[in-house]
Amino acid sequence: MTAELHCAHCDQETLHTLVYAGRLLVSTTCQTCQTQVKHEPGDLRIQYVKDLENRILTKPGRLWKRFWRSPVAVFWSFPKKTIEQPRKIWDEIKELFK
Ligand SMILES: [Zn+2]
Repeated sequence: MTAELHCAHCDQETLHTLVYAGRLLVSTTCQTCQTQVKHEPGDLRIQYVKDLENRILTKPGRLWKRFWRSPVAVFWSFPKKTIEQPRKIWDEIKELFK
């Protein structure tokens, strides 16, 4: 996947290679100078979970509030049965926090 983006190194709009994990952008590489810009894995995970949040229709608000305060810790203590989410989504999240 490619897109025209501004490259700080070339100081102009150049063609970049975009690398995605699912629907999220992981890194962009300038095809002219090969400068790669990586997106923070931490940010990526938070973005990903926020994205999931939008996909989840029934969400217990209090749990999510706790989740934002301490995502990893709360995730592992999630009583999964209290959240009736498709198993697939939790498997996706688990992958991210491994
Ligand atoms: Zn460049």
